[in-house]
Amino acid sequence: MISSIPKWVGNLFESTLRPNAKVLETSYISSQVKKIRFQGDVSKMNFQIGYANVLRVSETEYRNYTAAYHDKEKGIIDIIFHIHKNGVGSNYFDSLNVGDETYIGPSRGKKLYDPSIENQFFFGDETSLGLACAFLPILKSNNHPFQFYFELDEENKNVPKLLGLENFTVFVKNDSFRNEKWICDLPLFKTKEWNTGNFALVGNVKSVQTFRKVLKHQTRGSVYSQGYWLEGKKGL
Ligand SMILES: Cc1cc2nc3c(=O)[nH]c(=O)nc-3n(C[C@H](O)[C@H](O)[C@H](O)COP(=O)(O)OP(=O)(O)OC[C@H]3O[C@@H](n4cnc5c(N)ncnc54)[C@H](O)[C@@H]3O)c2cc1C
Repeated sequence: MISSIPKWVGNLFESTLRPNAKVLETSYISSQVKKIRFQGDVSKMNFQIGYANVLRVSETEYRNYTAAYHDKEKGIIDIIFHIHKNGVGSNYFDSLNVGDETYIGPSRGKKLYDPSIENQFFFGDETSLGLACAFLPILKSNNHPFQFYFELDEENKNVPKLLGLENFTVFVKNDSFRNEKWICDLPLFKTKEWNTGNFALVGNVKSVQTFRKVLKHQTRGSVYSQGYWLEGKKGL
């Protein structure tokens, strides 16, 4: 996905990339997790599970974020941002206040959910909390048995509960999800029911890749994965 465009291209499309959404509300769920409610015309956007919107974070840079909630009639879209303080996007959304205007581009992306599979498993980190919030009501209304696993920084370990998520296990981020042997010992692999589940893996690229490898070896399930960020890399 493109994360930056030359300034002259931006100038050329300035009219289409101008602010189209206004900040209605902001709240910090923790010092690193900020929820922003935007208002704008979202009527033509496609909010499938796994899809993300491209948001403008500077004159030339764009980043991907997921709608945690949307209401097409009211023109509302909620996004949950990881304020990790390492990048232009994180700093930009940390600075946004009620009344500020910004550009939210169309949503598009990758399929992560197969409704025909009964057991649904989700893995992610702070960047995936919004997707988990969007996913929860769908999992419940379609009566899926489901389980969320999150790897989170210590200071964010209460965030899933504060966001109203259910059936989740929080693992404090310590590189465990980069250790194939450690992953093999997770309770997930101790029961048969998950052997043919739908596995949606998002978040840190290295964690996602390692988890995916183990799932491919240990289960017959369908694995859908997408890395959301990688150490040292700008804007995936
Ligand atoms: C489809 C998709 C959906 C996404 N949805 C969301 C979402 O809903 N909420 C959300 O917060 N993020 C989401 N992300 C991730 C987000 O786009 C990236 O984290 C992005 O890199 C942030 O941009 P930045 O400008 O802050 O940092 P960048 O300029 O991209 O990166 C600068 C430095 O910060 C590091 N970095 C980037 N992200 C993180 C992080 N999360 N933790 C620690 N270090 C980091 C990079 O490794 C790099 O070294 C999504 C990504 C994709 C691909």
